[in-house]
Amino acid sequence: MTETQKGWVVIAGLGPGADRMVTSEVQDILAEATDVVGYIPYVERVTPREGLTLHASDNRVEVDRATHALEMAAAGGRVVVVSSGDPGVFAMASAVFEALEAGSKAHPHWLDLEIRVLPGITAMLAAAAAIGAPLGHDFAAINLSDNLKPWELIEHRLRLVGEAGLAMAFYNPRSKSRPHQFERALEVLREACGPETLITFARDVTKPGQALNTVSLRDAGPEMADMRTVVIVGNRDTRRVGPYVYTPRFAPGHQPGQAAAEKDT
Ligand code: SAH
Repeated sequence: MTETQKGWVVIAGLGPGADRMVTSEVQDILAEATDVVGYIPYVERVTPREGLTLHASDNRVEVDRATHALEMAAAGGRVVVVSSGDPGVFAMASAVFEALEAGSKAHPHWLDLEIRVLPGITAMLAAAAAIGAPLGHDFAAINLSDNLKPWELIEHRLRLVGEAGLAMAFYNPRSKSRPHQFERALEVLREACGPETLITFARDVTKPGQALNTVSLRDAGPEMADMRTVVIVGNRDTRRVGPYVYTPRFAPGHQPGQAAAEKDT
């Protein structure tokens, strides 16, 4: 690697797990890379080859990892930072821009690097597709981890979003280090959304052992979720039809056809 080569950073999403859900754009960029950076299990999904260095690191060091990627690119490396799902959803894309903002004060030339984000299929969309269309009306995506925000704020948002009638998708729902918070989240949701609202626990979506479990909020228990689960809470209209779970496109009382000009494409 020489200083004269033009380096770049691409932050790429590997999708929810199945190889066939890695986009061809992401496959192509991995074939061009000199370095791949990311959390250990995601880097393990990249096939090793000559000329490619794999840099796997622990999960809690996102900004260090992002800074390392920028340093290598500044030295001429073609660096791919990998995330699962989509890199913009609770993942590395923002971490790279945080590192760029902080590091470009000391290294202004970092701002001249080519940085691109390549999307991937995020867990909630793969899970929604696997059960039907529970996110077919308005919804919010919420990270339930309190690593980067206080639990009080999470609870506040859950209540407001539930009261606003939006469906929700939860990432990082329950970990060993915070075993009781998800139980509290379910209590808040029962109050804000009503106990009959459907909730789906989608574990290892698109991977071997994929498991989908839909119950009412009344029957939901904290043990149904872990860090390999994405949780989807419907709105009050979310319903079952045969084996499927879906949310109608229209708000209650607002029948299809009232806004013909906005017809779906
Ligand atoms: N960037 C990722 C999310 C990273 S946060 C994405 O867009 O999907 C990690 C959380 O994502 C996990 O705790 C879990 O809630 C969810 N997740 C990721 N892959 C999943 C899968 N295959 N099945 C179920 N949940 C998944």
